[in-house]
Amino acid sequence: MSSPPQRRTSSRLAKSATLATAAAKPATKAPVRAVKRRKVETVSVEGPETSVEAAMVEEITLTTSKGRKGKGVAVKKTTKTVKTVKKVAISEKDKDEEGASAEGSCCSSHDEEDDGEDEKATAKLSKKRATKEPKAKKKAAPKKKGGPLTELKTDDMWARANQAKKFIGAHISAAGGIWNAIENSVDIGGTAMALFVRNQRKWTSPPTSEADIAQFAASAALSKHDPRVHVLPHGSYLINLANPDAEKNAQALEAFIDELSRCEALGISLYNFHPGSTLKEPRDEAIGRIIAAINKAHAATKFVTIVLENMAGQGNIIGSAFEDLREIIDGVTDKTRIGVCIDTCHTFAAGYDIRTKAAYEATMLEFENVVGFKYLRGIHLNDSKAGLGEHKDRHENIGKGEIGWEGFRLLMNDPRMDNIPMVLETPPGDSPDNGHSVYRMEIAQLYELVGKEEGFVPS
Ligand SMILES: [Zn+2]
Repeated sequence: MSSPPQRRTSSRLAKSATLATAAAKPATKAPVRAVKRRKVETVSVEGPETSVEAAMVEEITLTTSKGRKGKGVAVKKTTKTVKTVKKVAISEKDKDEEGASAEGSCCSSHDEEDDGEDEKATAKLSKKRATKEPKAKKKAAPKKKGGPLTELKTDDMWARANQAKKFIGAHISAAGGIWNAIENSVDIGGTAMALFVRNQRKWTSPPTSEADIAQFAASAALSKHDPRVHVLPHGSYLINLANPDAEKNAQALEAFIDELSRCEALGISLYNFHPGSTLKEPRDEAIGRIIAAINKAHAATKFVTIVLENMAGQGNIIGSAFEDLREIIDGVTDKTRIGVCIDTCHTFAAGYDIRTKAAYEATMLEFENVVGFKYLRGIHLNDSKAGLGEHKDRHENIGKGEIGWEGFRLLMNDPRMDNIPMVLETPPGDSPDNGHSVYRMEIAQLYELVGKEEGFVPS
C-alpha cells in the first residue's frame, strides 16, 4: 500500500567529497585507446560509530582498440575511520558468506524436492552444489570493475527492451557485494534481474551494510535499473512457510521477513519465493500456514510485494496447480502486495502446454480464469528437460528443451508479459564466465523473437 521508499543515499550525498575524490583510482584495465572519467555522484554514509564510508561512482567513456565506443560504470568504495572505534564496513568473512550466497542460479541446478523434510532437501542441495561448483570457479565469479563493464552499452540495451516492452535478464551472481549483481546484469545485456538478497543456504546472515545499500542504489541509477520495477529477488530455499512444526515455522517466517526487509532497504518492490511443501501434512492446513505467514510478513513490512512462484512438482509441493496460487491469494488480506511469477519450465512440467499457439492460449486463458493476469508480477524464462506433465523441475537452455522456440516466441509477442521482469534461470553449462556468455546469447535470441511469425528460430 505504501509508496516506494526514498533512496537512502539522497540525503547523504556529497558529505565527504574530498575523501571520495582522493580514493578514486583508475578503474579499467581493458584494451582501450582512450578513457574518459566523469564523477557522477558522491555518496557518503555514516556508520553508527565514527567510521565514514564513501562510495564514488564514475561513468567511463572509452574507445576500444577497434574504435568501438562504449560507456561503463565503476563504483569505488573506501572506508575511512575518523576515530577508530568500530569498523562499519562488512568484514572479509561476511563477504565470503555473501559471495557464497550468490553462487548458482535459482532452480537451474537442483531438483525440486517432493518428499518430506525440507532441511534434508536443502542439505542435499548444498552438497550437490558444493561438488558441482568448486572453489576455483567461485573465485572467478565476481565481475570486477574495469572488466566486462567497460564494454557495456546501456543505451542500446534499454532501447531494445523499451521497444519490445520486454525486460529480460537472468538470475545473476551477487558475489563480492550485492551491487555486483547489477553490474553483472549489465554485462549480459540484462534489463531485469534476479538475485539472492542474502546467503540462501544459511538461516542467518549479517545485515546488508549501509555502504552496500548505497552502492546498490548508485549502480542501479547509473545503469537505469529501477529496483522497484526491474528486480525480482529469489527467496532462500530453506524457507518453508508451510512447515507444521511451530518452531521451524517461526524460523522460516523470521527469515522470510528478514529477506523482505532487505528488499525494502534496497528499494526493491518485488520478492519471489517457492510457496512451500506440506511435508505430508494435510494440504488445506499447509496452505493456511502459508497464508498466515504472508499476512504477518505484510504487517511487518511496508511496501514489498510477495510473489508466489508456480511449481513443477506435485504431491507435497504447493503451487504446481494454478488453483493452489489462487487459494493462497484468496486468504491474503492485502491483495495489493501479493503476486504471481510464472516459471515456463515449471508450468510445462506441471502439465500446462505452451508449445503451440492453441495450447499457449488455452494455458493463458486458464491462468486468467483461475489466478488472473492482474496478479502477474514476473516470468522465469526456462526451457524444460522434462516432458509435459512429468512434474520434474529440470531447467534447460531456451529452445533446447521440450518447450522449444515456439513457446518462447508466443511469450515474447504476448502483451500480457509487457513491463514485468523476465528472468532466465537456465543452466550456465561449462561457460568459463559464470554463464554470462550463455545468458547474453539467450537474451539476444529472445529479443530476436519479437515481431516474428510462427516457426521462427533465432540465429
Ligand atoms: Zn524459477
